[in-house]
This record gives sequence, structure tokens and C-alpha cells, in this order.
Amino acid sequence: MSAGHVIFIGAGPGAADLITLRGARALARASVVLYDALTDPALREFAPAAEWVDVGKRGFSASTGQDRINVLLVQYASTGAIVARLKGGDPSVFGRLEEEQQALAEAGITSEVIPGVTSALAAAAASSRPLTRRGDGRSVALTTAMTQERELNAGRRADTEVFYMAGRQLAMLARRLAEAGWPADTPVCVVSRAGWPDQIVSDHDVGTLPTACLVHSGRPAVVTVGVGARPVLQRASPAGVRAGDEPAASEGDPAAAFTRP
Ligand code: SAH
Repeated sequence: MSAGHVIFIGAGPGAADLITLRGARALARASVVLYDALTDPALREFAPAAEWVDVGKRGFSASTGQDRINVLLVQYASTGAIVARLKGGDPSVFGRLEEEQQALAEAGITSEVIPGVTSALAAAAASSRPLTRRGDGRSVALTTAMTQERELNAGRRADTEVFYMAGRQLAMLARRLAEAGWPADTPVCVVSRAGWPDQIVSDHDVGTLPTACLVHSGRPAVVTVGVGARPVLQRASPAGVRAGDEPAASEGDPAAAFTRP
């Protein structure tokens, strides 16, 4: 029995058309696809004849355990199949890629990685803000707000920090950012479901970040802090508003920061 091959494919963080052309072509070659919860079901169109296996994990809730995913990968590849391991965003960013690569290597199965658009980049695009800026935006850190100890982790390591997996604990993140020395008026941009038609972008600062949960509750979100969160001065359109802008909310209303690009 010939050993199969596993292709880790970044699906991008949102709608199916954010996958790379290379990723879509690799998907079309696979006979089995192990896919994550946050990947767009429309991606099935690229591999309609393949067997699609849901191995989604959601936060720390009940789901397919990592050990089980490793076993499934090895089992499917051992049949000689080309297995696509479809991961949300980019496989190498908070995607448990190493564990899966190790399991395959130990079983003597070859694998390769096709990159994807990670959420931080889709969020920058959704908010029309460059992550790096000439002069003061010279470094970017991608940080998970969760650790194995489930402790919130917030430092000040770069001019711009993008926090993943912070959605459920924005108040705690705000507190930790302040403790780490970020001034209360540091710009913070929260983007949920970046790359989907219903993406939401909201502007805050370190002091007001806790109110973001009102608009992003229950949605996958990244939190960009620092230079990369600063809005770019935009030339107003003739009507003075961008297409799709929500009407201005009343002063003091946390939803005032809410925009649907
Ligand atoms: N490998 C993925 C990250 C997986 S960790 C990537 O490169 O994007 C899961 C976290 O990613 C979520 O908790 C959330 O913080 C972020 N995320 C995933 N999809 C997202 C989306 N469409 N919009 C905003 N954040 C998203």
C-alpha cells in the first residue's frame, strides 16, 4: 500500500474566493478533505467528488480533539489518498500545524503547506488600513489571547499587535493592554467575520475596547492595537459618506463606532 500525501491548505478567513488559486487547485486533486469549522462550505465546489470530513474545533468547547484529527489524517493518508487538510486563514498561524505535521512525519507520510490569507490581513483589508506604516508602524505581532492555561496574554511587543481568539474576553484584554503600558487612547480596531459579506469593523481605543463585545458577540474576531488600527484619512465621497456606511448613531452610544464596510 503506497503512502498518501497530505496538503495543508489555507482556506483564507472568509468567503470561498479568498482561497489562493494554488490552494483551490490542490483541493481539486484531493480525494479526502478534512476541514475546519470556520471554512466556507462553498469551497466544496472545488472538490465535489471528494469525501469531506468535518473536524471543526470551536474554542475550547466540545469538538474533535487534536489527537483524533492527527489519527484521522494518518489513517486517510495511509490508504494512499491525497488528503487536503483545509484550515481557516493560514495553516501556520494558530492552526495547530506542528502537531499534525509531526504525526504525519512519525507515520512516514509526506506533507506540504499552501499558504492562505490570515485573519489579521483580512481585517486590515476590511478596515482599509495598512498594518505597517512608514515611520511609526515598523513591526507587527500576531498574538493569541488564549494560552493553554487559558490565561489572557497581552504584551507590548510591536508597533501593531493583532490579537486572535480574544472575542470572548475583550474587557480582560483591555485591562491587560493597559497593564502592558498601552496608553488608554491607543487606537484599537475590531473586525469580526473579516472576508465575509457580513464582516463588521468597529473603532475603539484601549479604554473603550470592552464595548466592542456589543457588536461582535459570538463572531470570530481579531483585535488590532496600535499604529495599524489608526484610521487612514480618507477623502470623503461626494455624498460625504462611504457606500454602506451606517447612519451615525447618537453620542455616547457604543454602536456609534459600528461600520459595515
Ligand atoms: N489560522 C487562522 C487562525 C485560527 S485561530 C488564521 O490564519 O486566520 C481562530 C481565530 O482566528 C479566531 O478566534 C479569530 O480570532 C480569528 N479568525 C478566524 N476567522 C476570522 C474572521 N473571518 N474574521 C476575524 N477573525 C477571524
